[in-house]
Amino acid sequence: MLNKNLINGEWLAGDDEIKNINPSDTSDVIGDYSCATLTQLEDAVNVARQAQQGWRQCGIEARQAVLQQVGNELMARAEELGKLLSREEGKPLAEGKGEVYRAGQFFTYYAAEALRELGMNADSTRPNIEIDVRREPMGVVAVVSPWNFPTATASWKIAPALAFGNAVIWKPASNTPASAWAVAEIFSRTALPAGVFQLLAGGGGTLGNALAAHPKIDAISFTGSYTTGVEIAKAAAANLTKFQLELGSKNALVVMDDADVDAAVAAALGGGYSGSGQKCTASSRLLVHSKVHDEFIEKLTAALAGFKVGNALAADTKMGPVVSNTQLQENLKWIERIKSSDAEIVCGGERLALAEEGYYMSPALVVNSINEMDFNRAEMFAPIAAVQKINSYEEGLAIANDTDYGLVAGIFTRSLARATHFRRSVESGCVTVNLPTAGTDYHVPFGGRKNSSFGAREQGTVAVEFYTQMKTAYISAGTPQ
Ligand code: NAD
Repeated sequence: MLNKNLINGEWLAGDDEIKNINPSDTSDVIGDYSCATLTQLEDAVNVARQAQQGWRQCGIEARQAVLQQVGNELMARAEELGKLLSREEGKPLAEGKGEVYRAGQFFTYYAAEALRELGMNADSTRPNIEIDVRREPMGVVAVVSPWNFPTATASWKIAPALAFGNAVIWKPASNTPASAWAVAEIFSRTALPAGVFQLLAGGGGTLGNALAAHPKIDAISFTGSYTTGVEIAKAAAANLTKFQLELGSKNALVVMDDADVDAAVAAALGGGYSGSGQKCTASSRLLVHSKVHDEFIEKLTAALAGFKVGNALAADTKMGPVVSNTQLQENLKWIERIKSSDAEIVCGGERLALAEEGYYMSPALVVNSINEMDFNRAEMFAPIAAVQKINSYEEGLAIANDTDYGLVAGIFTRSLARATHFRRSVESGCVTVNLPTAGTDYHVPFGGRKNSSFGAREQGTVAVEFYTQMKTAYISAGTPQ
């Protein structure tokens, strides 16, 4: 059966299809997903512009009710939809289920936010004039999302966009159309007016680019790679379309001489290799103090030996395959480059042949690396983490900051003074202390600095900044007669 796109409340086929293959077992075809045409995109934009006018006026309780319904259903079906997500993306089942549940929480959180929106008022500097400052929706918001968190990333954009009265056109990543389709199917059964939420799957370079360059789109929220983000920025800037970008990373985890080494090893394992290292919050640079360096490597190597690679849906799998053959080949190329450097791979980095044909590799740990090495500068998005030996806190902080990116940074230390200094000095949008770099909450801002982000922050109450625009009204009431 062909899974179609949701345009103006109808399921419509396009002129091309995505064959959705399970990366854990390439003989398993999850389904065929239709790609929307550029004409359909044009129709969707026009429909959205109309529909948004009704949606912004239908009242905050109506918005709250739709978002609550979508959130409740996602949470109730986390098991089933998490399995689908893991099957198409390759992350272990627990991570897939957790992601869908979290996506539901974004919807219920922003359902409540729809009711909480308050404005400002003031007296004018002129007598008998009042000022009312309120937020209004942006209009039609384009959501362009990545495959690594296909449900959660899109949900933390779609939920606030709708809560604050916008219409949404969502272009999901081509590697994960099933998770997107499942969310759209839930929307199609709500009271949301046709055209307020539309799903248009398709290629990034074609449909995604056309969406970003469209003059009738009022705002674009993008999560993906730095390179694509720059393309989106250029396209949006040409129309002065508001945009926000959440991009790549090269996150450092500093392990100090006074750290709880076992806790640091557990954080490096989860932070570097869960989701096959395909997380924007992954700690791919491990900056370990010389006094605990050897112990840390020994323990992390032992932990990786027990980190079972297997089918994403198998109960004992700790790490699934990587998302696609393209990604796998890129990763293996990085392994070759590392081998030809002065660094050393202590374990992993091999292509694995398991019972089912899939995109499997073993998690790799690199030692004796320095920050100047190309694999310590580029986002590999792979289950590969590299250790750099440091001799002081100052050196760790300097190396953590010596990167083009700035999404998350972490430190393991028992020193409050060091932890506080690190929190306040590291050049990243998020910081963790004695915790993995991966793992964030939904009610607080999320985002990075430098090449990791651009524009307003996402998540939490601050999301209102991106999805609304302010209007200042001056009102003269006159004098009572
Ligand atoms: P990607 O940039 O290849 O694709 C992201 C989305 O953009 C997809 O939907 C894709 O089809 C679309 N796209 C591609 N080219 C386009 C173009 N020219 N115009 C418009 N749209 C286009 O990224 P990906 O491989 O899907 O995801 C991995 C990347 O996402 C990594 O760099 C990762 O760090 C980043 N990421 C960042 C965050 C964050 O919050 N900072 C979260 C998750 C993922």
